[in-house]
Amino acid sequence: MIKVGVNGYGTIGKRVADAVRAQPDMKLVGVAKTRPNYEAEAAVRKGYPLYAAIPDKSDAFRQAGIDLAGEVDDLVLQSDVVVDCTPSGIGEKNRELYDRYDTRALFQGGEDADVVDASFNARANYDNARPDDVRFVRVVSCNTTGLSRLMAPLQETFGVEKARVTLIRRGGDPADATRGPINDILPDPVTVPSHHGPDVNTIFPDLDIDTVGVKVPATLMHLHSVNVTLESEPTTEEVRELLSDESRLFLVPGVAGIDGTGQLKEFAMDTGRPRGDLWENCIWGESISMEGDDLYLFQSIHQESDVIPENVDAIRAVMDAADQRESMERTDDNLGVGL
Ligand code: NAD
Repeated sequence: MIKVGVNGYGTIGKRVADAVRAQPDMKLVGVAKTRPNYEAEAAVRKGYPLYAAIPDKSDAFRQAGIDLAGEVDDLVLQSDVVVDCTPSGIGEKNRELYDRYDTRALFQGGEDADVVDASFNARANYDNARPDDVRFVRVVSCNTTGLSRLMAPLQETFGVEKARVTLIRRGGDPADATRGPINDILPDPVTVPSHHGPDVNTIFPDLDIDTVGVKVPATLMHLHSVNVTLESEPTTEEVRELLSDESRLFLVPGVAGIDGTGQLKEFAMDTGRPRGDLWENCIWGESISMEGDDLYLFQSIHQESDVIPENVDAIRAVMDAADQRESMERTDDNLGVGL
């Protein structure tokens, strides 16, 4: 039984905690929060032991009538691995805390790659997190996760000569009241290429990929417009078959009549997905097209949830508790991944 702590209980942290609880080979030791807000209250109602992320603020929890199981140091000490889900840049500062207790830790995509021993995507490089001297692992961002899941089978089967991707990014998460734009379309970053390509190179060092980014007034998902020049010339049907065999790629069928990310999310909620989460890349089946050796497609990425199965697999990888296939199958079964 792998003992897991979650430090930082926001968009990603609460989903990781629920996903860990769903794994029979893992035990959720508890979650650390900075303040006693509605998310702390929800964690208590779920029965998650709550730890004060900032010891000086422990009193605020008591004043709010919330019992604490301890402070973050206690959580780290009791855990085999901590999943750090704090905002970008805080994880790096927390590294020393995990070092102090000799506890392994996962970080999220907001941290720089040089903070960790390995960047991780379950489908593409699971084994990079397994060696005993790998203690700190970064589960790459939602966009890099989505691109890695797509590039891995293309690379293995057809070879990738060059990938070009336009990332049309949501302005903020649905509960994020401070992000935007609310009435604009922003080249973001305005410089070309964007940093997303180099981030994909932390998973595929030799992949030739250029990316550009645009930010739009939307909260539900990102949309990638993908062009990959392949080293061979498969038919559209061969590409479709390859991608449909991947458990974390969902080919949105034309017959479903789903016309955008709003209806995709509605489908997720109608099918009983927790929080309407879409853990899979949602590739628009009708968009998959081969023109000579150029592949084109659109894929939508649910930024709040596609990294969740990856975090679960990264826990097993960094603990060397299962091989890639076994872990991904277990994660998918336990969560219900695969639409
Ligand atoms: P969030 O703001 O929703 O949640 C972060 C939580 O950490 C908040 O509850 C905050 O109060 C808490 N926190 C702040 N300082 C802390 C500290 N010192 N100790 C413990 N907790 C602290 O952020 P998020 O969207 O969940 O992002 C977390 C990480 O995941 C970032 O690296 C981000 O880049 C990455 N990520 C986010 C998304 C996304 O779309 N939301 C997708 C993939 C990866």
